[in-house]
Amino acid sequence: MLSYNVAGLLRATPGTVRRYPVHAADLEIAADLRLAAPIDGEVRLSRTGRSILARAELRTALEERCSRCLAPVTAPVTVLVDEEALPSIDLLTGQPLDTSAEPEALRLDEHHELDLTESVRAAVVLAEPIRPLCRPDCRGLCEVCGADLNREPGHGHDEHDIDPRLAVLSEWRPGGDTA
Ligand SMILES: [Zn+2]
Ligand SMILES: [Zn+2]
Repeated sequence: MLSYNVAGLLRATPGTVRRYPVHAADLEIAADLRLAAPIDGEVRLSRTGRSILARAELRTALEERCSRCLAPVTAPVTVLVDEEALPSIDLLTGQPLDTSAEPEALRLDEHHELDLTESVRAAVVLAEPIRPLCRPDCRGLCEVCGADLNREPGHGHDEHDIDPRLAVLSEWRPGGDTA
């Protein structure tokens, strides 16, 4: 999944393009970040004189929580991945290539397999919304008691309702009036 054997494409003339539909059931993103929908889209691989260019246009969704009221939210995300992958062995001779000139480059493995899993995972992490909302006008939670203000629009507190421990805090002032 998200891995492509490009031995055939490496033998094709530069400029050759192959397209692969993506219907990935699931991909583990991170311990605290899970997909809420399969990854769908297309991967386009093209042969250049020296490499394989990969462009992935993918859609999925993330399991999030509303940043105001903490309700579960499904956040759709789209990701665009552009990578250039260089061979690690010579296609004709089967001999390892010297990779020291570009140690950071993404490499095909010894079977000419191009694995985009890590690139896609990183792109999904970057696409995570910073402040997901369950709806644009989410009212959030009551600062005093934590009640969901979406469910109780008229919610409020009289002064004497306030938890005595919080009342102490509200009277406390930095610097202390110790008169
Ligand atoms: Zn919300
Ligand atoms: Zn409250």
